Amino acid sequence: MKVLKFGGTSVGTVENISNVKNIINDGNKKIVVLSAMSGTTNSLVAIANCIANNLPNEAIDKINKLHELYFDTIDKLLVDESLNKEVKNYVTEIFNFLVACTYTEFSVQLENKIVAQGELLSTFIVNSYLNQEGLQSVILPALSFMRIDKNKEPDFFYIKQDFQAVFNAAPEATIYITQGFICLNEEGQISNLQRGGSDFTATIIGAVIKAEEVEIWTDIDGMHNNDPRYVDNTKPISNLSYDEAAELAYFGAKILHPQTVTPVRADNIPVRLKNTMNPEAFGTLINNNHTENGVKAIAAKDKITAIKIKSGRMLLAHGFLRKVFEIFEVYETSIDMITTSEVAISLTIDDDTNLDNIIAELEKFATIEVDKNQAIICLVGHSIVNHQETFKLFQILKDVKIRMISYGGSRNNISLLVNSKDKIKTLGKLNDYLFELVTL
Ligand code: ADP
Ligand code: ASP
Ligand code: MG
Repeated sequence: MKVLKFGGTSVGTVENISNVKNIINDGNKKIVVLSAMSGTTNSLVAIANCIANNLPNEAIDKINKLHELYFDTIDKLLVDESLNKEVKNYVTEIFNFLVACTYTEFSVQLENKIVAQGELLSTFIVNSYLNQEGLQSVILPALSFMRIDKNKEPDFFYIKQDFQAVFNAAPEATIYITQGFICLNEEGQISNLQRGGSDFTATIIGAVIKAEEVEIWTDIDGMHNNDPRYVDNTKPISNLSYDEAAELAYFGAKILHPQTVTPVRADNIPVRLKNTMNPEAFGTLINNNHTENGVKAIAAKDKITAIKIKSGRMLLAHGFLRKVFEIFEVYETSIDMITTSEVAISLTIDDDTNLDNIIAELEKFATIEVDKNQAIICLVGHSIVNHQETFKLFQILKDVKIRMISYGGSRNNISLLVNSKDKIKTLGKLNDYLFELVTL
C-alpha cells in the first residue's frame, strides 16, 4: 500500500482538490495524508498571536474572514445539498470554537489547539467531497494514533498499535484519509510535528505500514537544484539519496520537512516528490541509490546565529569542547555548523531561545562574539568533497564574505555561512557558475 501526502496548495482550491481526486482514484487501497488548505495554518498562527497579544477583536476579525472563505469553497465544492449543510455545520462548530478561544487565556496548549484546526477542516471537507464523487473514503483521525514522546520524537510503539486499530476498524474503505501535522504529546494533549510536518506524518505512517512508497504531492515538480523562491532557472532533480534529501531538507529546502526521510530510510521505502498540478512530470525519487558525483543542489537556511568562543585556555587543553557542548546540551540547543582553531571555536545555532543563558555560561571561561542574521548555504551532492571542480567554489564566491565553512563533515555536504543579506546573491552566483562548471 502507498501513502500519498497532499500539501496546502494541493487542497487549496476547488480545481486542485479535483486533481487530488483524479490522482487517488485508481482503485487501489491507499492512505492519504492532507495538510491544511494553503494559508490556513498561517491564519491560525496569526489568530493565536492576536490572542497572545490581547487583541481579541483583531482575532475575531480574522476568524470571520476565514470562515467566509471556507463557506465559499464549500459552496463551490459540495453541490449535494445535505452534504453541503453537514459540512457547513462541522466547519461552523470549528469556527465557534476559535471564537471561544478569543475569550480564553493564552497558553501554548491553546495555540496548539488553534493551529490543529486547519487539518481537521481540510480532511473533513475533502473526505465529504470524495464521498459525493462516489469514492469509498473514510477519515482515520490522526489524534487517535499519532503521538510524540517527551523528546518530541514519534512514539512508534503507540503509533503502530493505535494506527492498526483505527485502520482495521474500517475494512471496507479504499481511501483512508488522515490529518498531517497534528498529533498528541506524551501527556495526551494536542500538539504538532512543527511547521511543514505533514510530510513527516506521511513517512511515519509509511514506516509503520511498511509502505510500498510514500508520495509527497506538492505545487512543484520535485526537488529543484536551487531555491526557486530566490533563484530563476532552477531545475528538478530526478534522483536523490536519503542522505542528500535529508541534508537539503535540514538546510532549508522547504519542499520537505527536515525529518521527512528519517522514518523510512532504514527500510529503504522510496519517497517520491510529485506535482499535483502536473502529475505527468517525473518529479524526484528519493531512495538508497547514489547517482553521479558533484554538486546536485543548493539550499539555504536563514535566521542563523553564529557564536565565536575564544579562550586562551583552549590552547593544548583537552576537555574544552566537552565543556562547551555540555552548555548547549543543558539548554537543549542543537549546533549546526562548527569550526575550530587553536584559540577559538565558531559554531552556529538556529534556535536562539536560550541564547542569553548560553552566553552567560560560556562567558565564565571564554570571550564570546555573537553574529545574528546569518544564513547557511548548503551544497549537496554525492561525494561532492572529492569532486575535481568543487574548489572553484571559492573563485565563484570571491565577492561574498564567507564567515565560516564546513568541508568534510560528510562527503555529501559543504556548508558556508554568510550574512543573510548576501544569501540571494550567493545562491544566484552559485547557480550561474557552479552548475555550469560541474557539468564541464
Ligand atoms: P506543501 O504545502 O505542498 O507542503 P511547501 O510550500 O511546503 O508545499 O513546499 C513546496 C515549496 O517549496 C515550493 O513551492 C518551493 O517554493 C519551495 N522550495 C524551496 N526550496 C525548494 C527546492 N529546492 N525545490 C523545490 N521546491 C523548493
Ligand atoms: N499545515 C501545516 C503547516 O502549514 C503542516 C503542513 O502543511 O505540512 O505548516
Ligand atoms: Mg510543506
